Amino acid sequence: MYVSMREMLRKANAEGYAVMAINAFNLESASGVIHAASKMHSPIIIDLLQEHVKKYFDCDVIVKPIIKMAQQVSVPVAINLDHGSDVAHLKRCLHEGFSSVMIDASSYRFEENVAITKSIVEFAQEFNASVEAEVGNMGLVGAGAGFTETKMYTDPDVAIKFIQKTGIDALAVSYGSTHGDYPEGYTPTFHFEIVDKIKKETGIPLVLHGGSGSGADNIRKSVKYGINKINVGTDYMIAQRNFLIKALRDNPNYDYPELLHQSYLEASKVIENYINLAGSKNKAL
Ligand SMILES: [Zn+2]
Repeated sequence: MYVSMREMLRKANAEGYAVMAINAFNLESASGVIHAASKMHSPIIIDLLQEHVKKYFDCDVIVKPIIKMAQQVSVPVAINLDHGSDVAHLKRCLHEGFSSVMIDASSYRFEENVAITKSIVEFAQEFNASVEAEVGNMGLVGAGAGFTETKMYTDPDVAIKFIQKTGIDALAVSYGSTHGDYPEGYTPTFHFEIVDKIKKETGIPLVLHGGSGSGADNIRKSVKYGINKINVGTDYMIAQRNFLIKALRDNPNYDYPELLHQSYLEASKVIENYINLAGSKNKAL
């Protein structure tokens, strides 16, 4: 069923687990995400990254078939625009039926971030859509930006003020994770006291970005301290790529549509593992 991310995260917050938000960029990848959620009887969020939406299938094309897929399964599915920074495009996404948007104005100064975010919160009300925002920011491994540094972490006091001023539904918190693929054998250090302070003061759902490669302990502890949404993109994509490499090596004549279909089904096992860690298994009802 297609639901609002607001209700989904409210339940997760009340019951102390997190919902996985997985990056998809076409119908096949979205179908793999829904497949994993159905198998695990878990709520799920399909995260459509603004950059992908603009580059591959824009919101007017991609969102309706995904909503249709969501309506056809019994588990709750929400669709969230990930890292929306283009306000005009974000508004189009809401018009096209997104049940949630993330407005990422984290590169602006505090007052501007508040003003931009607040205007989106007001606009989203018309659509009964929820709004996620970000204070502090996360790096990107492998694209020159590097790891998240201490100075990029979310300042809890600033975050608390931001939440009170904007009325957002969920906040992305930077406390040690980085987007992208960590080097082999590297596990990031998470600073849970940041999450803990914001959670205790505001009680709203908090979001971990760059969940891929965080390690099971960091994921479990994040949930314990109040993370209710965990974004994972890289690990799902790597699993798809690895399947393709192996399958084509074994059989260069693999039927192409079936090859793609199987790559998403195989990769969805990675999502099942994250659903277990996040504690949302059997939380569909
Ligand atoms: Zn992110």
